[in-house]
Amino acid sequence: MNYTIEKVTTLIGARRYGNTDANISFILTDSRSLCFPEETLFFAIRTERNDGHNYIPELYGRGVRNFVVETIPENWATLYPNSNFLKVVGTLEALQRLAERHRDEFLIPIIGITGSNGKTMVKEWLYQLLSPEMIVTRSPRSYNSQIGVPLSVWLLNENTQIGVFEAGISKPGEMLALRDIIQPTIGVFTSLGTAHQENFPSLEAKCLEKLKLFHDTQAIVYSEDDQVLNDCISSKNYKGESLNWSAKDVHAAFFIKSIEKKDIETTVSYVWKEKVEGQYKLPFIDDASVENSITCAVVSLHLGIDPAHLAERMAKLEPVAMRLEVKEGQHGCTLINDSYNSDYNSLDIALDFMNRRPDHKGRKRTLILSDILQSGESGKELYNKVAFLCEKRGVEKFIGIGEGLLAERSAFKHLGEKHFFATINAFIHSDVFANLHDEVILLKGARQFGFDHLTELLVKKVHETVLEVNLNAVVDNLNWYRSFLKPETKLVCMIKADAYGAGAVEIAKTLQDHRVDYLAVAVADEGVTLRKNGITSNIMIMNPEMTSFKTLFDYDLEPEVYSFRLLDALVKAAQKEGITGFPVHIKLDTGMHRLGFDPQKDMDELIKRLKHQNAIIPRSVFSHFVGSDADSFDDFSAHQFALFDEGSKKLQAAFKHKIIRHMDNSSGIEHFPERQMDMCRLGLGLYGINPRTNKIINNVSTLKTTILQLRNVPAGDTVGYSRKGTIDHDSLIAAIPIGYADGLNRHLGNRHCYCLVNGKKAEYVGNICMDVAMIDVTGIDCKEGDSVEIFGDDLPVTVLSDALDTIPYEVLTTISNRVKRVYFQD
Ligand SMILES: *Cc1c(COP(=O)(O)O)cnc(C)c1O
Repeated sequence: MNYTIEKVTTLIGARRYGNTDANISFILTDSRSLCFPEETLFFAIRTERNDGHNYIPELYGRGVRNFVVETIPENWATLYPNSNFLKVVGTLEALQRLAERHRDEFLIPIIGITGSNGKTMVKEWLYQLLSPEMIVTRSPRSYNSQIGVPLSVWLLNENTQIGVFEAGISKPGEMLALRDIIQPTIGVFTSLGTAHQENFPSLEAKCLEKLKLFHDTQAIVYSEDDQVLNDCISSKNYKGESLNWSAKDVHAAFFIKSIEKKDIETTVSYVWKEKVEGQYKLPFIDDASVENSITCAVVSLHLGIDPAHLAERMAKLEPVAMRLEVKEGQHGCTLINDSYNSDYNSLDIALDFMNRRPDHKGRKRTLILSDILQSGESGKELYNKVAFLCEKRGVEKFIGIGEGLLAERSAFKHLGEKHFFATINAFIHSDVFANLHDEVILLKGARQFGFDHLTELLVKKVHETVLEVNLNAVVDNLNWYRSFLKPETKLVCMIKADAYGAGAVEIAKTLQDHRVDYLAVAVADEGVTLRKNGITSNIMIMNPEMTSFKTLFDYDLEPEVYSFRLLDALVKAAQKEGITGFPVHIKLDTGMHRLGFDPQKDMDELIKRLKHQNAIIPRSVFSHFVGSDADSFDDFSAHQFALFDEGSKKLQAAFKHKIIRHMDNSSGIEHFPERQMDMCRLGLGLYGINPRTNKIINNVSTLKTTILQLRNVPAGDTVGYSRKGTIDHDSLIAAIPIGYADGLNRHLGNRHCYCLVNGKKAEYVGNICMDVAMIDVTGIDCKEGDSVEIFGDDLPVTVLSDALDTIPYEVLTTISNRVKRVYFQD
């Protein structure tokens, strides 16, 4: 659907500058995601840290002509000819208003889903359950925020027969806006949990805020067995029909007679509205899935799906892959695996993700796509759209799998290289498959086309031990630390030591995408690797070697300078290359007594030498706290700060240009936000460990392996080298493929620490070997091939560092390179 610019102007109550005709089909709030400039309306949204207005020149350059703004750019008519500026008081509110007016056009059932957990799973399962008989428009991924909801609702179009949207809130007062945009006719509450609780005085308060979504709904789906939720709903007198479910109350709309769990499936028997008896089997056994399936069953029955159809579809429910995974592939390829339901909107998001990861030039961007099912459009319409999207998103090689794509291959005539196959097997046996090399490949396929098998073939065979890195958690941690900073304070992200073990290149891509001001690595070679992988951010080199100056200049890597010897050598090298004004970062030693100039004794000489040349200029001056993590060092920290303040001000006074001053590291940001000055340096906190509390903020890295072999060992025998692992009662011992050569410290052995097997603690028995370790799984329900968590989401890395009497920094940075890193993003 599209709207004329006049119509949009009226709908959002804007004042229009410019009178160029335009039709709007796409809404953009993030300049990086631009795809169809001519039909795009850009909302310049101001957040605490960023201002969409700053991106207008760039977007105009890329062809965007329609903007919603709070301030009209000066000289807009001459600077931006043939464009329209719609001036409003608040751009976010205008975006929400537009979505709301768009929503008004639809007299169809709309499901609004809220709750603490399970929103996305319920939404996706409802899509799977309902789409055989109706055309469903739903939020892409978990677009459920103040911006995500309007963007989702905007996707409603003339084909839509039912809408399914998530509403997520993190603060009081947010739900009203979302309710007005979604205007749900059916309200669904998944579950009440503790997420975002810090922003609410009580669980009830949070529950009531979420329930605002239900104010005008015709039906409300919720668990009567959740006491808090039930009380909150009872206190509200909603007009809508109560579709409560319960395992206790036989009068509930959906009474659960029994839930029986077997090895791989669960059977739920129920009575619907005290009349209809039914039963379904679910191919999952975890509690969350069972609960979410019940919510979906209630909605489906309410919408008139009969119990037999429901049971048929429940049995075929597919897991909801929430993550986009980045893996190393065979023959120099990088794989981006997105098995999230294949549809047009999620394809667009995945292509955007691929494009935002800068990559070494010369690597082709390849898309392997299966037929898109249940879109509600004809093949021709759909694949014309897909082909156009691929062109716009810069796909260089297209591989289509399935009869649908094969039939519509002519739609792709404008794409460079393209190949079509009826089945995955035909593809796997073709030359096209055999010749994949040095490409960035996005795999996007419906499960029934066998993409799991394809991924297996393409992924580089790795050692079964992997470090999973959650890129969303990195961003959440970044934002957590940013919340202590003034909007204008700059940030250096420390990605030395291969990003504290998480893998510098992918972490750098994520951070660059989130516009951090500087990245810092230890040595020049690390900086070169980043540059070769497309990183264009400013890069600081903390320990430049005397032999690396040429590399620094060639790759635009800004060194730290800590001594006169280094300073003189650097100046000389720069002069020899004819370089002027190369930025450097001056380090002062205020108490660490590691590296740096003395802020009291060296400043005059330092200033003299800096002034005496023009090859380099000081861009920043900094020092490092020795103990910002512990209150007991507060006096010493104050002393350090005073020394730095004096020395750095002296340096600044000697120069006309601004010299950035910085001192806070992760714990400094939290503990001394008043000392943030112009910039801070974030290290460990970014990777999810709060150095002050030793607690996990948002876990980033999970080190995982699998059980290789299980064996019963009788009492009296021993396990491992030197007979260290004595067994005093009959035990079940598992061997896992991780050893000290992978970074599993040998001191963890002999029951000094444990890992997790199916959620249960299993101690290391005997000496840890080079490549293998043995663990005691006596009494734990497990089998060969089961996954083992060494540390991560459920076992904080600090448990290991405490057991080793060291710091988490050491545990993280000693994971060896042969452990493959796998990245994922929701
Ligand atoms: C590593 C490092 C940091 C980051 O410290 P964290 O405690 O990990 O936040 C900051 N500054 C310098 C100079 C560093 O070397």
